[in-house]
Amino acid sequence: MIPGLEPVPLRELQALGSPRVWSVEGQLDEMPSLTPVRGTIRAEHLGNLLEVEGSVQTIICLRCDRCLGHFNQQLSAVSRELIWLGTEPSDDHLAQTGLDPTSPEGLMECLDPRGDFEPERWIYEQLSLQMSVVNRCGEHCPGMPQQPADGAASHGEKSPDPRWQALKDLQSSMQRNGTHHD
Ligand SMILES: [Zn+2]
Repeated sequence: MIPGLEPVPLRELQALGSPRVWSVEGQLDEMPSLTPVRGTIRAEHLGNLLEVEGSVQTIICLRCDRCLGHFNQQLSAVSRELIWLGTEPSDDHLAQTGLDPTSPEGLMECLDPRGDFEPERWIYEQLSLQMSVVNRCGEHCPGMPQQPADGAASHGEKSPDPRWQALKDLQSSMQRNGTHHD
């Protein structure tokens, strides 16, 4: 939990009548990082919309999918998002607010206007979006490890003829059933 980033009721932001700004410094529970997440986030209640913008960064430790070695990666997110307050917005609603529903900035999220805005959750989402699907330690990746330390080697037997495998599976499942006495 990042100190000071407790969920805030949207009504409170509305009553404020001006943007609220948080300075961010701390660890996200869901994303352990080597350095604290640092930055700022700002939210302004605009009636039907909540405008949130922020800039946060941190360094996380990842494991390379190829060589399985660990490496550090800097994550930084600078984003601005409009969140619709209410049920799914209709095109009419959007037209009223002067937003083009087909624009890439189209609304992606809705919040219950009686609910809370969660600054920490927002930061987590923005940083998660920056993470790559495939982790590679870099140009000098040594490649796949030669032999896994555990795994195949720990099975005493040589791999059986695949034609006999089905029979063997059947046999062992019968044995399991046969020795099952409770
Ligand atoms: Zn690697």
